[in-house]
Amino acid sequence: MPNVDPRTGLPGGSGPAAEEDRCARRERRLAEIVSRVEALERAVSPPVLPASGPEKARGRRGKAGTCRREDDVRPFARPAVVMSRCLLGEACRYDGRALPAGFAGKLLPHVRAIPVCPELSIGLGVPRAPLRVERAGKGGPARLVQPSTGRDLTRRLAEFRERFLRELPRVDGFLLKSRSPSCAVRDAKEFPPGGEDVPRARGPGVFAEAVLALFPLAAVEDEVRLARPRSREHFLTRLFTTAAFREEVGRRPSWGRLAGFHARNVLLLETLGREARRDLAGLAADRGRRSARAAAAAYETRLRAALRRPPTVAAHLGVLLAVADRLGTSAGTRAKARFLDALAGYRAGRLPLSAPVAAARALAGEHAAADLAAPTYRHPVPPELAEADPGGRG
Ligand code: SF4
Repeated sequence: MPNVDPRTGLPGGSGPAAEEDRCARRERRLAEIVSRVEALERAVSPPVLPASGPEKARGRRGKAGTCRREDDVRPFARPAVVMSRCLLGEACRYDGRALPAGFAGKLLPHVRAIPVCPELSIGLGVPRAPLRVERAGKGGPARLVQPSTGRDLTRRLAEFRERFLRELPRVDGFLLKSRSPSCAVRDAKEFPPGGEDVPRARGPGVFAEAVLALFPLAAVEDEVRLARPRSREHFLTRLFTTAAFREEVGRRPSWGRLAGFHARNVLLLETLGREARRDLAGLAADRGRRSARAAAAAYETRLRAALRRPPTVAAHLGVLLAVADRLGTSAGTRAKARFLDALAGYRAGRLPLSAPVAAARALAGEHAAADLAAPTYRHPVPPELAEADPGGRG
């Protein structure tokens, strides 16, 4: 049984036998990935990874003969995101303190923000006595109570959240405040009913609990998890991919738009798992059996479901190696070394995905840069967000 790195799913270990095993597995993996990409290219139109070469390179020149810049950034659709108002720097917290806007503030110019403060919306003021979640046993209903006054605010909050969530337009995600008895996605303290002061568990706040139940396919995160590069990368990719689908296909579905979206995203889709790839390619090419509108709706649901799981490091490595395999034959030794360094850094968790992607662009060189094709893989999210420092916990 070969040694396997449990984090990446790639072969590990040392010694000649392990090395041989590693090479053989990598070769098999690469061949499999390249053939899948090619199969997807054949399933959709236009082809997404055209062979590079002088003719193709000339074809990408502009009228004045200038080359397309390798780091041309595509326009991005604006995701609709519900955001806790205190994360945007508003002084709406129980203690009246304003948090620094942090990453939520950086996200703001790129999204259609829908700010919400459930506690202000049910008529509580600032400052106010703290609230807490009480839950009788695991899985029991949560109550929102104010221990210092003995008030039970559960019903008021439930009425507000039902109205608010029902009236929302189509949203791509939620960015909510951690540890809040209303907004926390997973880490609000839960107390047993009856005034005990020791929390027994942690779970979602009473507003976020309804969000998770009613929007199972939306990206829902808090600011603490977004401080981790891979969680942030995943959250942003979900937001901008589903927003792009809505803008590019959902508004006016047609077979051409669906196939075009699939082609532009083919490398991203490569990272989502075999079953999702097969289903999505099938829907994009399924012209005979259903209307374009029905196919687009089914595609969107499948896409959102597939995006729920973060792609593994191994999945990204596979795509990058396959792309580099195609593009790197004529690259210089220095560019290859940089690419391998960036790949190793990403694999070890030291570098974000944007590092090996940028190194692969350099490997491809200016003329062949479009061969990294699927522009959504080159720039899945606006670069200033991909590279943004999360800016603390606000
Ligand atoms: S955590 Fe939610 S309820 Fe609390 S202040 Fe922030 S937005 Fe309002």
